[in-house]
Amino acid sequence: MDIMIQSRDIGELNPLAQQACNLFLSECKAQGVDIFVTETYRSQARQNQLYAQGRTTAGDIVTWTKTSNHTGRMAWDIACKGNVLYADDILSKAGKIAKTLGITWGGTWKVQDRVHYEIHKEWVMRKEIKMRYNTLEEIPDWGKEAIEKLIVSGKFSDKNRLDLSMDMIRMFVIMNR
Ligand SMILES: [Zn+2]
Repeated sequence: MDIMIQSRDIGELNPLAQQACNLFLSECKAQGVDIFVTETYRSQARQNQLYAQGRTTAGDIVTWTKTSNHTGRMAWDIACKGNVLYADDILSKAGKIAKTLGITWGGTWKVQDRVHYEIHKEWVMRKEIKMRYNTLEEIPDWGKEAIEKLIVSGKFSDKNRLDLSMDMIRMFVIMNR
């Protein structure tokens, strides 16, 4: 991968941030907040390049810092799927969802960054939140084999709507042994 290119791959995030990001995306989806990830991991070289923009190179200033949680694989940016890429009301709704999940939203900062989300290393998935996994890609690696077998044998009516909880995946893995 070219280090100067923007990555929107959630797999490039720290494993904990992947969990938070996936949970955030599924909550947004469940609540009809139509957003997508535009950037995850950012190399320091790219951060430096962004910092230079509007200062020593052409364009508008896009960042205030050379230090970003994107370079530490703990942050991601989003945009809206509709006609307006950065629709204020949608960005606000997404920000509220993040708050319920204990995820930091850049929209709450003094210098707002309304597309930005990040977590601390101590982030934990709140117990009351029941994550649902709907596609094979969303299933944690340790559960993929067992769930794939069930999909192939036609046990799910819709393979894009598996609606599995973590406990159900665990159970299927044990049954698959
Ligand atoms: Zn950001």
